[in-house]
Amino acid sequence: MAHQAVTKLSGKDYKAALQPVWCPGCGDFGVVAAVYQALAKLNLDPDHTVLVSGIGCSSRLPGYVNTYSFNAIHGRAIPIATGIKLANPDLTVVVVGGDGDGFAIGTSHFVHAARRNVDITYVCMDNSIYGLTKGQTSPTTPTGEPTKTSPEGNIEDPINPVLTALACGASFIARSFSSEVKTSVELIAEAIEHDGFSFVHMISPCPVFRGRQQFDWVKERVRGVPEGFDFTKREQSRAIAFEDPKEQITLGLIWRDSRPSYITRQQELRKKAAQKGVPTYEDILHSFIPDFGAVGAAR
Ligand code: SF4
Repeated sequence: MAHQAVTKLSGKDYKAALQPVWCPGCGDFGVVAAVYQALAKLNLDPDHTVLVSGIGCSSRLPGYVNTYSFNAIHGRAIPIATGIKLANPDLTVVVVGGDGDGFAIGTSHFVHAARRNVDITYVCMDNSIYGLTKGQTSPTTPTGEPTKTSPEGNIEDPINPVLTALACGASFIARSFSSEVKTSVELIAEAIEHDGFSFVHMISPCPVFRGRQQFDWVKERVRGVPEGFDFTKREQSRAIAFEDPKEQITLGLIWRDSRPSYITRQQELRKKAAQKGVPTYEDILHSFIPDFGAVGAAR
């Protein structure tokens, strides 16, 4: 359950004093604007909201938001966010980061958080390049694309984030584009409200290392979900996940299921254990550390 702020907050109330240092024209400006508005739409209490990131240009984002934040090591934002959520399920936990952080070194964490249905939101800002380290090929760089490390064109095939999320069991999957701020606000807010692992694939161009043409290329291909689309029908969601981005890129809510989240299952397990008189984790800790209590009391 998300904690609401006592008074009604606006987007600017979530703006931190620190100014973004992204390059002019970076897609991440649109994403942080959408994050401010999404938090305001849900009126989330900044004292009960945590943004977690790894390393990369987009992983700077939590520093620009007036909530608690944790800038973790490369690729490890999801396990840290999972730990935060398990230690205090009352918190709203949002992970932000880039394609290099999330779909190279961080891939296994993504897979397991999705299948466990951990109740966190993951906004992956995908620019298909390593921007912070000056333009190397990333796991989502399209085949044939020249980069600093593939001057003759990328010889690898890219990972498909939406298809991966679907295959791994994410219970909420959406896609937006950084310049479509209104759509991003709606989808990020819905993702945060979703009870389970929610993934927002956010296409966020890097004009410095992918050029201005990346923005135009995406802009020409984005469209909304087709009329009659049902995001609870796996075949329909799969068709969108498999679409060829050279042809079209569908934005919107792509998949949603309502199976219980990891936290819900854990709480049910705790209830059953209590009914059976099984000692809890806190009871066991108490038996070793008699004055232990702060963590137990917080649950
Ligand atoms: Fe944005 Fe690219 Fe600059 Fe990084 S290098 S801040 S991704 S424009």
